[in-house]
Amino acid sequence: MDSIIKIQNINLWYDKGKPSETQALKDINLEIEKGEYVAFFGPSGSGKTSLLYLIAGIDQPQEGKIYINNKDITSVSKKEAAIYRQIGVGIIFQQFNLIPSLTVLANVALPMAFLGISEDKRKIETLKLLERLGIKEMANRYPFELSGGQQQRVGIARALANNPPIILADEPLGNLDSDNAKRVLEFLKELNKKDGRTIIMVTHEAWSLKDVKRIFYLKDGVVTKTENPTPKTVAESLSHHLYQELTPELTSVEVSAQSLAQLFMRGYSIEEIKRFEFFLLERLKNHIDSDIFRRVLDRPFKQNGVGLWRQKAERISRFIDDIIQKRKEIKKVYEELEYNLESPIRDEVEKIRMWLIEDYHGKLSELQNHRLNELIAERLKSIITPERFKKIANKSKKEYGVGLSFRSTQKISEKLEAILRGQEAYPGGIL
Ligand code: ADP
Ligand code: MG
Repeated sequence: MDSIIKIQNINLWYDKGKPSETQALKDINLEIEKGEYVAFFGPSGSGKTSLLYLIAGIDQPQEGKIYINNKDITSVSKKEAAIYRQIGVGIIFQQFNLIPSLTVLANVALPMAFLGISEDKRKIETLKLLERLGIKEMANRYPFELSGGQQQRVGIARALANNPPIILADEPLGNLDSDNAKRVLEFLKELNKKDGRTIIMVTHEAWSLKDVKRIFYLKDGVVTKTENPTPKTVAESLSHHLYQELTPELTSVEVSAQSLAQLFMRGYSIEEIKRFEFFLLERLKNHIDSDIFRRVLDRPFKQNGVGLWRQKAERISRFIDDIIQKRKEIKKVYEELEYNLESPIRDEVEKIRMWLIEDYHGKLSELQNHRLNELIAERLKSIITPERFKKIANKSKKEYGVGLSFRSTQKISEKLEAILRGQEAYPGGIL
């Protein structure tokens, strides 16, 4: 049989026998094949890291067996265990774990030094690795001189130093921005596909599951389910972990997502808008692709989706794709959306305009209505002051105004400001 890792009836306790005793792993049984790319997925505290450390030979379970290439590493000699840790597995950590006083080159070469490889050969091999990860120029720098993304690439190079067949990555994307996270994911995929390495990635972020072949779900120290992911299952796990990933701090991307959510989801409940906003943010940060985005929008609300009509889900998803492709900046996405989408705000403006000119006696031409709509939209967005609104409304059509009389202008402006102050409501209005 081809299992490179086989875990049998593992039970692991911390502080066993003390009042603080916790059982971190309960009756774990699993097998991973040579060349597989799998994930341990579950919430914080579910036992993912504990399981990884057992597989790495860093820790020992009180009960059970761990076979690596059919050899039980829980009962080999200390020396054999040490060799296994050095050449059998490479570990990538979330916190990078680089040695601050050593250069990048020395950090990566260190595991080779323990194996007694000559200095010249260490240097040659290390530079090859650094080149592969695109950080060769950093060889003589110190970790603190590097960005987070670069440090993580050093961490990966170090994990690969002794050419281990098994790569363990413990939340490798946790400290990275989305571009760097995507790059690391791509690299893990390449290590698996091209180099044929067996990879276990530990994660609690569903979007990082896209390339893995199998997911082991962990909860409270138990493997609750094993699954081969499809875009659908990724969407489901994403929904499932929705609330864990919401963070209270707002950056500008978050703020944009918030505004976009307001625009797209006018008339929906706050819960629905919040949920939409969450997934939109994941999409805008490119954590999820458009297929998964569309699926979660379409999923019923009760099943942790947004519960939109399929057509609306498709339309929004296509629209977001389009602008993400055309323009990278989130702020621009927002602007584009405001101006170009047949967005709900258009309907809103239309309603307001009807309300404003309700007791206007003359008849407005199509051009005048159009310009008045633009003016109202600009006033709503606070791009213009009430004074400027009145001026343009009063200006002649030739001068790109609306061409209303001074008196009508006064009345309309007063009404609009009353709406904006919340003192007056217009029919169906939610402003
Ligand atoms: P995860 O990686 O999924 O967040 P861990 O494997 O780190 O989970 O932790 C599993 C459980 O074991 C948690 O309840 C955690 O508090 C406990 N635990 C982990 N490491 C230790 C330790 N060194 N001493 C005591 N308890 C620990
Ligand atoms: Mg952990």
